[in-house]
Amino acid sequence: MTTSHQWFQRAKKVLPGGVNSPVRAFGSVGREPLFIDKAEGPWLWDVEGNRYLDFVGSWGPMIFGHVYEPVLAAVGEAAKKGLSYGAPTAAEVEMAELMCNLVPSLEMVRMVSSGTEAVMSALRVARGYTGRELIVKFQGCYHGHADGMLVQAGSGAATFGVPDSAGVPAAIAQRTLTVPYNDLKAVQELFVKRGQEIAAVIVEPVAANMGVVLPQAGFLHGLREITTEYGALLILDEVITGFRLGLDGAQGYFGVQPDLSTFGKIIGGGLPVGAFGGRREVMSEVAPLGKVYQAGTLSGNPVAMAAGLCSLRSLQEQPSIYQQLESRGKRLAQGLRTIFKEAEIPVTVNQVGSLCCLYFAAGPVNNYADAKRSDTERYKRYFNAMLERGVYLSPSQFEALFLSAAHTADQIEWMLEAVQEIVEGGLLA
Ligand SMILES: *Cc1c(COP(=O)(O)O)cnc(C)c1O
Repeated sequence: MTTSHQWFQRAKKVLPGGVNSPVRAFGSVGREPLFIDKAEGPWLWDVEGNRYLDFVGSWGPMIFGHVYEPVLAAVGEAAKKGLSYGAPTAAEVEMAELMCNLVPSLEMVRMVSSGTEAVMSALRVARGYTGRELIVKFQGCYHGHADGMLVQAGSGAATFGVPDSAGVPAAIAQRTLTVPYNDLKAVQELFVKRGQEIAAVIVEPVAANMGVVLPQAGFLHGLREITTEYGALLILDEVITGFRLGLDGAQGYFGVQPDLSTFGKIIGGGLPVGAFGGRREVMSEVAPLGKVYQAGTLSGNPVAMAAGLCSLRSLQEQPSIYQQLESRGKRLAQGLRTIFKEAEIPVTVNQVGSLCCLYFAAGPVNNYADAKRSDTERYKRYFNAMLERGVYLSPSQFEALFLSAAHTADQIEWMLEAVQEIVEGGLLA
């Protein structure tokens, strides 16, 4: 048997850092990654045959858990008819129709192959439509790795963006202005100064890439009002929240109507799919109808569309999934709060629906600066101790915990018992 360690040694010779996406390297939890052999329902097995209760869910797509038979069957059927044609198919039309039916702000969509691509394209459309260049984003929000989105300014005042990554030209970073999440006043001030140059505000309606940070009352509606006032577009990045908080996403959950939305993760059912869409007038800018160029060899791929369509239809047929996820999420959050309160360890648990985050910091956590106060050394000990007990959590403090419909009430209790055991053992003191 080749162990995870041995695979990682081999991987590091041929893959930068041994992985194809940085957080998988487990860098911030001080150990080597597990190499996964297979999964089923809420479980993962590593190549050594150890089983783990999975609370990552491929970072969001696996809302039904792993190896969900209806999606698997749909993929199998589609694959037999050919993997890709580079020509229109019925499934693309059905997928677009279904998305537009379920999400009221969508009148037209364009399918792509990742969330990054969806965001990158939506920003181009916003710029093409408004004829303006600046984009406003929030510190700690992640929108994929397109050049202009790898930007966050230092905490505090709104300022010109500086790149977070080598290789991003300063000139591009400067076209992204950043403000603290939940800080409507900062957005307002920015618009007073530069409002006529701003093409769009992009926001995660629930910020789920700095842990989990909920929008405060009035924040999303305030963004809607400001952008409307200045003729800028509001883009909701629903790559995580889309079809996770409900069939109409976070926009339905919080009752806010964006101009454009971006999707990914769940809409591919585990295959590489993204999408962006919105108002007909705005989407009519997209080529070949309009002058904003956007294309993709594998966009709307028939196998990926089959997986996505089956996922969305399954959710539509079982809307009670969302109530179940909400109640399991609530129980998890409340259980964590109780355990740490009794142990007098300061934590903040933010949760909405199937998204949850345990911060090792006294609350509240309403933005990136708050999130960064978390004791990441303690998270590291917590992560490792949970892994030893067979619970697979996000290998970073600044990621969400994802529940799926496959997680049972008993499994949540079992997970909480593991936390209790670790706390009682003094491992987090
Ligand atoms: C994951 C994510 C993206 C990027 O999607 P990829 O498919 O990884 O490119 C964009 N926005 C948000 C909010 C995400 O969580």
